[in-house]
Amino acid sequence: MQAFFNGRYVKKDEEVIRLEDRGLTFADGLFEVLRTASGRPLFFQEHLERMIESSIELGIDFPYAIEEVRAFAEKLIEKNGLDEGELYIELTRGCDINREHRFPPKGTPPTFFMLAIPLRKIDPNNWKEGAKVVTYEDMRHKLCIHKTLNLLPNILAKNHAYAHRGYEALMFRRSPLGKYITEGGSSSYFCVSNGRLLTPEIDNILPGITRSKIINIAKEKGYKIEERRILLDEVLVADEVFLVSTVSKLMPIRQIDNRVFRAPGETTLVLMKLYEEVFQKEINS
Ligand code: PLP
Repeated sequence: MQAFFNGRYVKKDEEVIRLEDRGLTFADGLFEVLRTASGRPLFFQEHLERMIESSIELGIDFPYAIEEVRAFAEKLIEKNGLDEGELYIELTRGCDINREHRFPPKGTPPTFFMLAIPLRKIDPNNWKEGAKVVTYEDMRHKLCIHKTLNLLPNILAKNHAYAHRGYEALMFRRSPLGKYITEGGSSSYFCVSNGRLLTPEIDNILPGITRSKIINIAKEKGYKIEERRILLDEVLVADEVFLVSTVSKLMPIRQIDNRVFRAPGETTLVLMKLYEEVFQKEINS
């Protein structure tokens, strides 16, 4: 198995990352996860644009043009003989031998690497019967619009869910009106309520690529969409709730804590089918 590391292809077990890399010492960096199929990364432009916009905002040099990354990624996928899989991309602010919080001097090379790995295994019953999810406090920072390496709160949230036989955590923050659900540990979510689709506005959450595709698909299909803060109490009385992400696509929710839903719901099934069409079109494009 090979990885792409700072302009070259390396064996995956080769030790190439310096211990002083700011990605390791400070989680000072960004990542992306794309799906791959037929030797190509899917929805490449959207994922790379999100990463590059964040790198500009956070002042991390992005070392390549988008099309260069595409060519490197396709070659990496080929070298690993990967068909359906995941492309992981990481960018850090580079090495800092003194481990200073201060940004390193201008011109310090960033670290950029990619892994082409098999698609993670998810129990298919989650799509057929709906997944169980468990609520957990959203303890993250105010940079959730960026896909940063600081994933400790997400990891704690997801492992809390696993410990309670859940597939995913739904994270909540508190407001004077009560708890509101921001997003999953690694997914966005939608509710179907009285024929309308609700999803949180981009208020310190990740602007998910799948979320935005579902919004477009649903709008085209004539669904009314509300992007706004959604209280946990509203989620619990919704007709249907489903998760969305690059890796899981659309996943119906069968249970949130003790509340059980009929899953998959009718609207969820319609959107699962429409998203699959968009996905297949992207593979064949
Ligand atoms: N929200 C969070 C916190 C995530 O980590 C992810 C994906 O990993 C998502 C949402 C879904 O984003 P996307 O649809 O771009 O995969």
